[in-house]
Amino acid sequence: METVELLQTLCDAFGPSGFEEEVAETLQRLIAPYVDEMRVDALGNLIAIRRGTGDTTLMLDAHTDEIGFIISYIEENGFLRFTQTSGWDARIVPSHALTIRSDHGTFVKGYIGTPPPHILRPEDRDKPYKLEDLFVDIGVDSAEAVAALGVRVGSPAVIAYPFEQLNEQVVMARAIDDRAGCAVIVKTLEALAGQELEATVVACFSVQEEVGLRGATTAAYQIEPDIALVLETTVAADYPGIEPQRRPTRFGHGPAVVVMDNSMITRGATVRAITELADEHLVPWQYRIPYGGGTNAGAIHRSRGGVQTGVVSIPVRYFHSPYALMRLDDFENTVRLVTEFTRHCPGLARR
Ligand SMILES: [Zn+2]
Repeated sequence: METVELLQTLCDAFGPSGFEEEVAETLQRLIAPYVDEMRVDALGNLIAIRRGTGDTTLMLDAHTDEIGFIISYIEENGFLRFTQTSGWDARIVPSHALTIRSDHGTFVKGYIGTPPPHILRPEDRDKPYKLEDLFVDIGVDSAEAVAALGVRVGSPAVIAYPFEQLNEQVVMARAIDDRAGCAVIVKTLEALAGQELEATVVACFSVQEEVGLRGATTAAYQIEPDIALVLETTVAADYPGIEPQRRPTRFGHGPAVVVMDNSMITRGATVRAITELADEHLVPWQYRIPYGGGTNAGAIHRSRGGVQTGVVSIPVRYFHSPYALMRLDDFENTVRLVTEFTRHCPGLARR
């Protein structure tokens, strides 16, 4: 599938943590031509296997969940209270449109309303809203009307905004974290179609990363990889107000190689294997400056007796907010690097 269409399809799929079924179903259709077998495990991880000629197993991981919300209380007059599944800065949540998935499988639109300046008390003007004070207005006026729509305590929700292409190089979407990583795996499998590979590639589309690497924990245990590569998106902060040393990555400088975050310190040999491969194949790359964060690598590298694990992340601006921006050249260069990594895998595993 053409890259922008692929990104749009994956980014617009509904999948807050714990409710990733639509993303997994979409991915099953997309990768079916390129893999030998697939299964969805008890937690909802989609695990797809492409058999190689040798006995090395490479796990490619990307997470299917996105930061989202869950309905927590229905007011008698039809307003909905909600909480986040994880990952949100509560200050930026007010005044956005939401999509709620109902028990009927339909999507119900709503708006996180806030009072206008006309009726705000002067002392409240500079105060950020707390999540527990916010509510969703879905345009009905009773709890019965909410129930009739199939919305209840526990209904999942995400921000409502659709994928947009700003120009030939930049796209903007709600769930780029980490559907772009999922798309890298799809494109890598597509690029390697029909080629003989020594490594058995296990593509793992993991659930519940945003709530604590839960899917990757059980997936890595089952897969028992010899080597793993996590495909993620990460903070690009090359915009006004952020000093250079607090910019983990920059837009347009290629895939970012993670050396350390809060979940893993990448082994030096693994970092060198990735960066030397990028240099050999003329793929631009950058280090991700260590500055907080974490990925599924945190769970995978500690699985069983330990797994040699690397992380390659696409720089994304405005991470964990209603929209994130990504450059297509950074995406394509990440696909090139991961494709070469997969081709050279058994050699890299022995370093
Ligand atoms: Zn992520």
